Amino acid sequence: MKYKAPRGTHDIFGAQAEKINKLEQTSRQVFRKYNYGEIRLPTFEAAELFSRSIGETTDIVEKEMYVFSDRKGRQLALRPEGTASVVRAYLENKLEQNLPLAKLYYIGSMFRYERPQAGRYREFFQIGAEYFNNPSPAADAEILLLTKDILETYGLKDLSIHVNTLGCLKCRPKYKDEIKKYLKNEKDLCEDCKRRIDKNPLRVLDCKKDSQKINNLPKIQEYLCDDCNNHFNDVQDLLKQADCSYIIDHNLVRGLDYYTKTVFEVRSAGLGAQDALAAGGRYDNLIKHLGGNDTPAVGFALGSERVMLAADNLKLSEKTIKNKIILVAVVNKDLSKNAFNLVAKLRKNLDEGSSLAVEGPFSEKSLKSQLRLADRLNAAKVVIFGEEEYARGNVILRDMSSQSQQEVNIAEIEKLIFKS
Ligand code: AMP
Repeated sequence: MKYKAPRGTHDIFGAQAEKINKLEQTSRQVFRKYNYGEIRLPTFEAAELFSRSIGETTDIVEKEMYVFSDRKGRQLALRPEGTASVVRAYLENKLEQNLPLAKLYYIGSMFRYERPQAGRYREFFQIGAEYFNNPSPAADAEILLLTKDILETYGLKDLSIHVNTLGCLKCRPKYKDEIKKYLKNEKDLCEDCKRRIDKNPLRVLDCKKDSQKINNLPKIQEYLCDDCNNHFNDVQDLLKQADCSYIIDHNLVRGLDYYTKTVFEVRSAGLGAQDALAAGGRYDNLIKHLGGNDTPAVGFALGSERVMLAADNLKLSEKTIKNKIILVAVVNKDLSKNAFNLVAKLRKNLDEGSSLAVEGPFSEKSLKSQLRLADRLNAAKVVIFGEEEYARGNVILRDMSSQSQQEVNIAEIEKLIFKS
């Protein structure tokens, strides 16, 4: 075959497609409970929107964005994440005035030029939400509990929730300077960290290679202003009251520059290096930074493929709801139109939300191979149109699990199938 999916992309079909649909459905249900409304966003935006939001010196902007110019020479980028787009939409559509509460969620694919490996793709799916204009620690706690609720409702267990605070524009610079001083004295840091000391010293804290040396660095908690300190304590109180256990992780800094105060990551044991299922935090300066009013905000995003991998580990796939299939088969071609007619009627009369699916007829195949197909599809029942039976106004209804069959009146078939 000449064509292959581009490196880092993947096709999702069969059981995987069922699983990602279930995850999206679960998320929508949970979002409804928390009163978030959907926003559908463009897949590409002005490249500058992302470089300004995420930060010029972050990995995403430096190395991972798919940037291209269109026919008029506009610099565009495939979105590497959702928050910048939601903020752009919030400002452009004046959602501050036009919505009583701006709580929005999105579902869609993101693009990052990363080195592909298990759980890491160049096009991957995220489900995320943003909560605008609420400075209260309750909004941080709500977003965190919402993330946890989605993952647990989907069926995941043993999640570990890591939280930290990154302070604000008042207190973080002091901490950054302090860290820089320490790092300058540290001789054998990895090449990436050496580069980061001046540009983005906090990123050194989440370097996996240098984790030993990093443990001795001062902690941000010692540098927080009163406001940030109280905020972090209040978030923790709310999580405790909601019986949500968490780990304070001083080295959690996240790869995006826009965060302030609370940041968090939800991890799952057994996923190896790519163990972060979801991540998020508060970003109180971003909206102003992009030209809006001073507007606090907090949000999260989960990676659908990672969540599905974690579900595979728990063998959750077995729990996905399978449609019960009714296959309509014909003994010979002459009755194929009558059989098709029944299929159409059954599909039309299925209740909304029914877990039945109706399939067939395959009049080009022999009855034997139609029954073999029914077997492979795990069909619950097969309706067989045979000439003699049909002349009597009947069809054969075969139960695939007991392998028993009976001749029934065609007028009865709907009732018999729907009640089972
Ligand atoms: P971020 O937008 O970097 O905060 O990431 C949020 C979540 O998206 C992560 O916790 C992952 O689950 C997922 N994610 C990020 N990058 C990738 C990728 N390249 N492939 C698959 N999932 C990803």
